[in-house]
Amino acid sequence: MDEFDYVIVGGGSAGCVLAARLSEDPAVRVCLLEAGGAGRGWAVKVPLGIIATVPMPFINWSFKTVPQPELNNRRGYQPRGRVLGGSSAINAMIYTRGHASDYDAWARVGNLGWAYADVLPYFKRAEKNTRFEDGYHGTMGPLPVNDVRTDNPMIKVFLEASQQAGYRENNDFNGARQEGVGAYQVTQHMGERWSAARAYLEPALSRPNLTVLTHAWARKVRFTGRRASGVDAYHGGRVQTFKARREVILSAGAFQSPQLLMLSGLGDGEMLQSFGIPMVNHLPWVGQNLQDHLDYTVIHRAKSLDVLGGSPAGALRFLKEIGRYRRERRGMITSNIAEAGGFLKSDPALTAPDIQLHFCTAVVHNHGRTLRHLMHGYTLHACVLRPKSRGTVKLKSRDPMEKPLIDPRFLSESDDMDVLVKGFRMARAILNAPAFAPYRKSEMFTRGVETEEKIRAAIRTRADTIYHPAGTCRMGPGPDAVVDPELRVHGVEGLRVVDASIMPTLIAGNTNAPTIMIAEKAADLIKGKAI
Ligand SMILES: Cc1cc2nc3c(=O)[nH]c(=O)nc-3n(C[C@H](O)[C@H](O)[C@H](O)COP(=O)(O)OP(=O)(O)OC[C@H]3O[C@@H](n4cnc5c(N)ncnc54)[C@H](O)[C@@H]3O)c2cc1C
Repeated sequence: MDEFDYVIVGGGSAGCVLAARLSEDPAVRVCLLEAGGAGRGWAVKVPLGIIATVPMPFINWSFKTVPQPELNNRRGYQPRGRVLGGSSAINAMIYTRGHASDYDAWARVGNLGWAYADVLPYFKRAEKNTRFEDGYHGTMGPLPVNDVRTDNPMIKVFLEASQQAGYRENNDFNGARQEGVGAYQVTQHMGERWSAARAYLEPALSRPNLTVLTHAWARKVRFTGRRASGVDAYHGGRVQTFKARREVILSAGAFQSPQLLMLSGLGDGEMLQSFGIPMVNHLPWVGQNLQDHLDYTVIHRAKSLDVLGGSPAGALRFLKEIGRYRRERRGMITSNIAEAGGFLKSDPALTAPDIQLHFCTAVVHNHGRTLRHLMHGYTLHACVLRPKSRGTVKLKSRDPMEKPLIDPRFLSESDDMDVLVKGFRMARAILNAPAFAPYRKSEMFTRGVETEEKIRAAIRTRADTIYHPAGTCRMGPGPDAVVDPELRVHGVEGLRVVDASIMPTLIAGNTNAPTIMIAEKAADLIKGKAI
């Protein structure tokens, strides 16, 4: 019963794609192990459920970073989905791919087959876009990509203000040009969130050759010699071994895939020894190269019921919106909060944008974990799209139930601070543009913050992730990588890593669609029929 051809660890964005694609062949048996539950409740399905799932730990690992010296020694918050669909079940549903040059850079460092021209067919294979039908988009894939259904007038205001501040509108960030401001498209269908579980896994669940186990927490990969032969996982009150005849595939995400490799004896030899973990292969780059998008929010209180808020009038509006959602699956409840945004250059001489904006129709402070977000207001995020800082994921102990030590080393490279200061100024200029005048009440947190020094101090006080950790099991051909360009772990057999952790450099955009693309391509590589 417990022997399969493929055992996949982690039912997130990548794991769901793999489970569905590999089990298309009825001759192979596939097992997917997910530490969380099935996640069929309203909080996942209803887009606005994000205001509960991101700040709270019920389907969320809610990791914390180690103290960040450049952020006044604050510990950052790192939400990650702990449920089928993984982080795609709690994310903001924005569909972007990054810049074509991001993938060309992967190929340039030896990852043949990963240039944008190579991966575009996989983006298209995944995508079911209802607006765009051209060389850049797919219309037949499992992942619905749609316009937001809120009809929120504040989005027009944001776009007008951005133009007043000097930025061009772009109606397709995933087309020929990334630069500009516009409304985001989202992974929703008929006003509901469409996580990777809903898009890929649910349609495959009836296949007799696919076993999906929830509340199955993998502890380590088992080896016979240098070949991965199965996975030990805590499931049903005991540790069970799930044998893999062909391959074990780790899709546990940027924090837990490297953790599992280390627990299984793949990592820096000295470090493994210090924890008393028998070494299978000395791989010093496991858990290195952590990259993430550091973000700062400029927030204004607002005179508008089109932005979320806990006033009596806001509460009444909210109740009406629930009724509308029930009837039409439209309106405020379908909001992903970050409905619009843009990709800008901090310096016109750059060849590609290095700042991303997210315009939110709510006060977004401290990941929605404090009462301040109950005020009516709007928020403009600016993040460093191409960070130079590199961090680490390390073991805290050899106990698999212990969370890993996450150290993004935010702003350890001073260029990142310079870009974020520019991002702050650009975001503020947009919010101060005339189009916002009828709605603007007051700037929260940063009123009077004008000088370079004060802006830097403000950033150190409040900046944190915008949720795109990657790079900790870097793909590459050489000894400074963890997996090869076919995503096989260096130096062993029968083991791959397939998730956001394999990105050699973080792409310049939101990371869900790129992770799904990685898994689509990996499925073909595993089947031996890559395009
Ligand atoms: C709050 C938030 C907002 C975001 N917004 C966006 C957005 O709008 N657009 C976008 O493109 N991207 C967004 N992202 C990022 C995007 O969702 C992630 O990059 C992507 O989902 C990562 O996919 P993954 O497969 O690498 O990992 P995940 O989807 O996180 O999957 C990992 C899975 O492995 C499971 N797991 C971990 N350890 C074990 C174990 N030991 N045993 C068994 N199972 C295990 C986890 O429970 C999880 O289900 C957001 C992320 C967050 C957290």
